[in-house]
Amino acid sequence: MLIVMRSQATEEEVRAVCQKIESLGYRAHSIPGAQRTAIGITGNQGEVEAGTFDEMPGVQEVIRVSKPYKLVSRDVKPDNTVIRFAGHSATIGGNDLAIIAGPCGVESREQAFAIAERVARAGAQFFRGGAYKPRTSPYSFQGLGEEGLKIMAEIRDRFGLLIVTEAVDYESLELVDQCGDMIQIGARNMQNFSLLKRAGRARKPVLLKRGISATLEEFLMAAEYVMSEGNYNVVLCERGVRTFVDHTRNTLDLSVVPAVQRLSHLPIIADPSHGTGKRDKVTPLARAAVAVGADGLMVEVHNDPDKALSDGMQSLYPDQFDALMVQVRQIAAVLGRSIPTANPSDADMKLSAD
Ligand code: PEP
Ligand code: MN
Repeated sequence: MLIVMRSQATEEEVRAVCQKIESLGYRAHSIPGAQRTAIGITGNQGEVEAGTFDEMPGVQEVIRVSKPYKLVSRDVKPDNTVIRFAGHSATIGGNDLAIIAGPCGVESREQAFAIAERVARAGAQFFRGGAYKPRTSPYSFQGLGEEGLKIMAEIRDRFGLLIVTEAVDYESLELVDQCGDMIQIGARNMQNFSLLKRAGRARKPVLLKRGISATLEEFLMAAEYVMSEGNYNVVLCERGVRTFVDHTRNTLDLSVVPAVQRLSHLPIIADPSHGTGKRDKVTPLARAAVAVGADGLMVEVHNDPDKALSDGMQSLYPDQFDALMVQVRQIAAVLGRSIPTANPSDADMKLSAD
């Protein structure tokens, strides 16, 4: 059930509806939009009696939501969600494309700094790097853990890059929520429902990667899990699904981008690195992702990919990333979108915030 408030509804009227919902034992999600506020109701097992709300002041309409997801749906919020970051000019989901770049895993301070310097110079506003790596083999590099998070916090201070890093369990999620700027939930955890709920109670935005065999509905339901706990800042990420092809590691399903945009107000970005698994295919698919309307890119970049401890085969050399940025800027312009150039004030974000 969704309660659409009139565009002139006052804050008190919105609050009164939320209180009424809570008094019935449900959860109210007040989602302000450009034109009006909508209030989603969750926690109800059966139908909620529409008449309870119809006559309340400020209520325009009570809508039954037939889709299994509610809060992610455009029914709740017709205009696109734009994710913002305190003290930083970067956004995700607005006119600007979000470029997230960095190594698969943080391997050392030297490695991470060398890459951060290059991706910042090329115009990325976000640095990615795993401190906790979900690896197929227990014998593969598992990440530096807290040490990796500390290195990335230094990178934020030094280069003004926002930090996107994966949480694999409750403990790491708590730490990423404290030290990072965006909590990545990996493909393997897209249906780890307790982790999704925990992410829904976190303060930081969540980057939710699509599971390797997830349908569009399963993908949106995973986002619904996060939002149902009160965290409405969710960014979806298409990172390839498993198919029969063997010329790439995964098949980057770019058709999911317009499919998501039709159904949901949430931003969606694409990861052509995991989506192809092959360095020579990353740039062409990055170009295609921007052309198809993705709100940003996540790209793996390494200063010495042959020696990378994970995903070297799909990591771009910094020079290749420079070239990618030049190309995607031009494609973005065709669509009336842009990739911001570095904002000097972001570099001392941390200093001014202290
Ligand atoms: C990653 O981004 O490093 C990663 C492990 O991605 P995915 O969860 O998409 O495999
Ligand atoms: Mn990787």
